[in-house]
Amino acid sequence: MPYYRTDWLLPISQPPIRDAWLRTDGGRIVAFGHTRPGDFTADDEIDLGQVAILPALANAHTHLELSWMRGRIPETGDFSQWLRTVIELKARAGEQGDAVAQAIDDAIREARGFGTGLVGEVTNTLATSGALEEHGVAGVVFHELLGFRSEDASGIMAEAIARLAKQRRSDRLRHTLAPHAPYSVSPALFGLIRDALRGDPLAKSTVHVGESAAEIEFLKDGTGPCRTVLERMGRWDSSWLPPQSNPVGYLDRMGFLDDRVLVVHGTQFGDAELTQLAATGATLVTCPRGNVRTGAGSPPIEEFFDSGVRVAVGTDSLASVPDLNLFSELEEMRRLAPALPARLLLESATINGARALGFESEFGTIDAGKRDALVAVRLDGYVSSIEEYLVSGVDAAQISWVSTG
Ligand SMILES: [Zn+2]
Repeated sequence: MPYYRTDWLLPISQPPIRDAWLRTDGGRIVAFGHTRPGDFTADDEIDLGQVAILPALANAHTHLELSWMRGRIPETGDFSQWLRTVIELKARAGEQGDAVAQAIDDAIREARGFGTGLVGEVTNTLATSGALEEHGVAGVVFHELLGFRSEDASGIMAEAIARLAKQRRSDRLRHTLAPHAPYSVSPALFGLIRDALRGDPLAKSTVHVGESAAEIEFLKDGTGPCRTVLERMGRWDSSWLPPQSNPVGYLDRMGFLDDRVLVVHGTQFGDAELTQLAATGATLVTCPRGNVRTGAGSPPIEEFFDSGVRVAVGTDSLASVPDLNLFSELEEMRRLAPALPARLLLESATINGARALGFESEFGTIDAGKRDALVAVRLDGYVSSIEEYLVSGVDAAQISWVSTG
């Protein structure tokens, strides 16, 4: 029964505790508190020293499957250009051979090294499930579907369900379905995915929404780069009528948005969309570093939090970010929203992500009964506010696992 002592403990569910102790047993947190002199008499006491202990981080949105694209797509100010490059590269994944699987394995190791214990993995091929399982990473594998032509919807759905049926069932790694985005998925396919999810009360889903100006234009009047890409790929559906609305209104009318859905990006959202989204109970997942590099623009982080919507955070894929360090996403959020309490940013990378993924009873906070998935961050130099310190940039060399839960 390990008995830890640490400079700082961040339960997240309550304010940080200085000079703290923590006891775990059998993979679970048993108790913790502030150190009083004479507390430590146990033989198995482990003094962790000058570190802050926090719950394993939840990366609520990533595509580990695209890890082989790291460094291959230059930063751009033009989102549709970025999207075209990803589509072209994806088509050449077959030529990469073992490099795809190796990159997935390396990326999972890297994410673990940055203190990530829970993931929302979005995959078209399900190629990442086995590796996540092997590394003992918990989370949700979202099998992402694309298909803009209504006539293709039932075939796409049938194939996806058959692929999912072959996946190993596990409480730690759950599989579900997700539509890619409003400009790449037909209303018919959205409807089929929604109906499938309704049959499973625990299932989550996710969708990229409000990412680029091109998407907003497309939903308003059916024109712009999204349409050009669909036409060029032979995926345009001439029977589709633009909803003439913002993407939140569009998805809400289709009955797709509720508290089980992770809406990713929202870079283009204003107050109206955010209020609308908050009312659905959906979680908004921001990927701020990736948004800048893909040309989608900087997300309005402060407005996100002001709207009352639950905010979680993800790295997105190595196609758009240089590494899978979630602490660097927090640093970027802090840069974009200097007035927000650091506590809210830390919640977004822990309990909010855990809750959105359906793992809040096991992960996301340090509380008795939860898994002892605990990360230690070594504190270099003077720390005036521990919460501020943790959103100001933490690198891999500072991070270690106390226990992996
Ligand atoms: Zn994404």
